[in-house]
Amino acid sequence: MEKKKGKFIVFEGPDGSGQSTQSQLLKNYLESKNYQVVLTKQPTKESEASKKISDILNHRITATPEEFQQLFVDDRKEHLEKLILPSLNEGKVVVSDRYFFSSLAFGSLNCDLEWLIGINKGFPIPDKTFILDVSPEVCVERIMSRGLPVQFFETKEKLGKVMENYRKAATRFPGVHLVSGERPIDVIHQEILSKLENILI
Ligand code: ADP
Repeated sequence: MEKKKGKFIVFEGPDGSGQSTQSQLLKNYLESKNYQVVLTKQPTKESEASKKISDILNHRITATPEEFQQLFVDDRKEHLEKLILPSLNEGKVVVSDRYFFSSLAFGSLNCDLEWLIGINKGFPIPDKTFILDVSPEVCVERIMSRGLPVQFFETKEKLGKVMENYRKAATRFPGVHLVSGERPIDVIHQEILSKLENILI
């Protein structure tokens, strides 16, 4: 099989939708088939921008919604330059837990969607993007079972809006698959593998 050119695969979805689980399973599967895989995540924890994101999320500093969204773009740019593009050029498969679709889905809770698409323009479109479609009720159940505190109503409402925004974003870009994420983990994994058949595997 021709494996010279790298492939870029992205998982997206609301918190608790199963992205980390599916990213890891895909990495394990591809490694078992001798692909070189880079599993990564956005926002990163390395860039100056990502440190500011963390400061804002932890209420150490404040920013406008637009400034906050710009930091994700700055972090993404550095992540592409330092890790994603070099890895793809070396022929590796890059699997990323979140990418610019997260900026559109979460950012449009309080910023304009077209403005968000504009500031994310120019970033490469992944070969495949899987958006895990999970209801807010199930996301909250899963988040709670991880033992982290959840502000139930606010979070549930937000998760529902984020999912709606993802569905809208899915229609705007090529190579995006909405995957029903409330089925058993392995059933979802098998569906993902079947969608990758013509580009990998
Ligand atoms: P995310 O990365 O999207 O926040 P995780 O992959 O960490 O979500 O999954 C959140 C929790 O839900 C974890 O405890 C995980 O084991 C569980 N989980 C993930 N996918 C499924 C699934 N399809 N069915 C049931 N539980 C799942």
